[in-house]
Amino acid sequence: MDFESFFKSEIDGLHQEGRYRVFADLKRQRGEFPKALRHTGEGAGEVTVWCSNDYLGMGQHPAVTEAMKQAIDECGAGAGGTRNISGTNHYHVLLERELADLHGKEAALLFTSGYVSNWAALGTLCSRIPGVIVFSDAGNHASMIEGIRHSKCQRVIFQHNSVDDLRAKLMAADPAAPKLIAFESVYSMDGDIAPIKEICDLADEFGAMTYLDEVHAVGMYGPRGGGIAEREGLMDRLTLIEGTLGKAFGVMGGYVAASAALCDFLRSFASGFIFTTALPPALAAGALASIRHLKASNGERFAHQSRVRRLRHCLDKNGIPHLANPSHIVPVIVGDAAKCKWISDLLLDNWGIYVQPINYPTVPKKTERLRITPTPLHTDADIDHLVGALHALWSRCALARAVA
Ligand SMILES: *Cc1c(COP(=O)(O)O)cnc(C)c1O
Repeated sequence: MDFESFFKSEIDGLHQEGRYRVFADLKRQRGEFPKALRHTGEGAGEVTVWCSNDYLGMGQHPAVTEAMKQAIDECGAGAGGTRNISGTNHYHVLLERELADLHGKEAALLFTSGYVSNWAALGTLCSRIPGVIVFSDAGNHASMIEGIRHSKCQRVIFQHNSVDDLRAKLMAADPAAPKLIAFESVYSMDGDIAPIKEICDLADEFGAMTYLDEVHAVGMYGPRGGGIAEREGLMDRLTLIEGTLGKAFGVMGGYVAASAALCDFLRSFASGFIFTTALPPALAAGALASIRHLKASNGERFAHQSRVRRLRHCLDKNGIPHLANPSHIVPVIVGDAAKCKWISDLLLDNWGIYVQPINYPTVPKKTERLRITPTPLHTDADIDHLVGALHALWSRCALARAVA
């Protein structure tokens, strides 16, 4: 086989569909968030980042960067091993305690990313609980889908956020089989929020365990940043809460929080936990500082929500259509892969605004979008500049406007 031409022809297909991914080459500037330097063939220029998952700017909060520097000075660069073989650093232990407390659980277990935590935890639970049937929301993240698939267990996909469909599917399943319901709180692309209470009610009725991905909510919702389940007083009703340290907490890593027995089970059986080098101590120290800060401070959360409201208000005034949702994610739907990419390129080249186009397979075809994530550090002037640019481009591309 001619491997090189195979690779190239597969890539050509992506180009033709207008969904070939191009990475912006950025250098984030500490103290200037959300600004970054963008490197191109012609040199470097300043851009305002409007699509970061560092939702609160904690990635450069002094409490976080100082904790990381101090931990490097104390412990050096890497963990030096897997968790089992010399790699468990005291910062990992402190961080796991902090995460258990954040979610009101007995224990927590760290993974190298949110992706790995979902993949490893679901993969292990679903392959090791004999005869388990997994009920998985149709909108679940790739990491959950891959974990469930990897386990080869029986799986049933229910309509996104549909309590009625979930009920019908639970009723149709073998009453004797153990059941697990896997879902998210804030869905990343539409910014909608799951009916957590109703799903927990169904779980109780059918004796199912619940697995909730709070990746887009931890740090940002709830009085201590414990997520939507904390805000709604539901944390104790979930069997397992999964989260990331890489989004609102601004660092890197993933985790699950659950009972001591469940965490010990994953610690003992999850290949994706066992056979990999532990996170660098400095990452754990930075995440610990970030969580502690956001547990005690609501200022970032309030400022964030107020920026989101202002952006939506300015978009509305200019007739730029965006999905209404109860979260901080502002999806501006373009509905065409090539146009979405083109708008994003123009924003970058002519206005110094960086919003990555989101195309299939991340979202369904015809719903291609700009996924805008305001942060507490975007100013009124930043918002006016973004909305002014979108206003000009909407006229130029003859895109439909929302009717006021
Ligand atoms: C980003 C994301 C993850 C993965 O988290 P990482 O820490 O980035 O690996 C998991 N679940 C959802 C819903 C996500 O959006």
